[in-house]
Amino acid sequence: MAQTTPAPIALKIDRADGVWLYDDLGNAYYDLISGISVSSLGHQNQRIAEAVKAQIDKHMHVMVYGEVIHDTPARFSELLVSQLPETLDNVYFVNSGSEAIDAAMKLAKRITGRHSFVAQKEAYHGSGQGPLSLMDDAYFTQRYRPLLNNVYYIKQNDFTAVESLPAEGVAAVIVELVQAERGARLAEVEYLKQIRTYCDRTQSLLIFDEIQTGVFRTGEFTAFQSYGIIPDVLVLGKAVGGGMPLACVITSTEKMRAFSDKPILGHITTFGGHPVCCAAGLANLECLMDWREELNIPLKEKAFRDALKHRNIVDVTGKGLLLACHIDKRIDIIELNKQLLEEGIFTDWFLFNQNAIRIAPPLIMELSHITEICEKIKKVLDRYSF
Ligand code: PLP
Repeated sequence: MAQTTPAPIALKIDRADGVWLYDDLGNAYYDLISGISVSSLGHQNQRIAEAVKAQIDKHMHVMVYGEVIHDTPARFSELLVSQLPETLDNVYFVNSGSEAIDAAMKLAKRITGRHSFVAQKEAYHGSGQGPLSLMDDAYFTQRYRPLLNNVYYIKQNDFTAVESLPAEGVAAVIVELVQAERGARLAEVEYLKQIRTYCDRTQSLLIFDEIQTGVFRTGEFTAFQSYGIIPDVLVLGKAVGGGMPLACVITSTEKMRAFSDKPILGHITTFGGHPVCCAAGLANLECLMDWREELNIPLKEKAFRDALKHRNIVDVTGKGLLLACHIDKRIDIIELNKQLLEEGIFTDWFLFNQNAIRIAPPLIMELSHITEICEKIKKVLDRYSF
């Protein structure tokens, strides 16, 4: 199997259950990251497992996306749009977040006839060449250039930067509401309003990348619902598939027509909306909606924030259960994560912030687990004095 770093964590996962991961020696680890914001209902959720088995017993793949109607993806689309404002009433399922962002970019080019984009600095939208073009970071992109030209990068919450964007020619502005890989940094409501106004004035599309924030991770079904600002295009991924590979672009039926005419087949995907993935996603969403009250995500966020107080903790940022625990810059995050692993906590760092512990556990995590995890984090941090 290919490696993506010279020294991967290389923990041998044997099985996973609830909020726990087990290695090949039977050691248990708290899952503090949910496979990077995926496994919201934890591992081995019975409703998801049964829905997957039932779909496999009916059929798996039969035809490329868009040509035949499968009951499960159709029911899943209906449930997704029933949770959203009426302008977001059409779902295009694809396989990954990167593909969904790429499709959203293509859609914006098609609808506006333009080819420039605005993205935020230190944003991550996926690893394909479209999404990679939206990344300003030289370290990750320079060896893959040339990428798409004409991308303007603005810093999150920089009002002046929005004012100086071009008055015309921008196809879309792409925004994450909690910039995850910068270390879970929240967009301010006034900043988003300013971007919405800019898009309305210039007839550019506003795309919200809710691949990490969506499907209740920050408390609401999508993060934008707590801001009251509606995008033209919404992108979901990660948790939307309930642990299976699935993502989607959601927009109005009118806008989505751009993919089916002149040219037809504007976006093609063989496996997008795979019925087994949609069965998992549908069961996941139904379960999350049923359990929403008892999951009590704001209470769990508060529990982490209250417990994570220590001389080596600088700040806790983010929303819901997409949090970053920022630590003293003198602490080596890779070494710290190794020590946490030895204490039975599996976590990770952020792409653009190497001074923070990623806290994105399954939403089913209990308060007693949170207390135990925070005690262990503080115990490890006690070892550092400067
Ligand atoms: N957008 C955001 C905000 C992400 O966090 C990610 C993945 O981490 C992506 C897009 C890309 O998703 P995928 O890895 O499924 O291609």
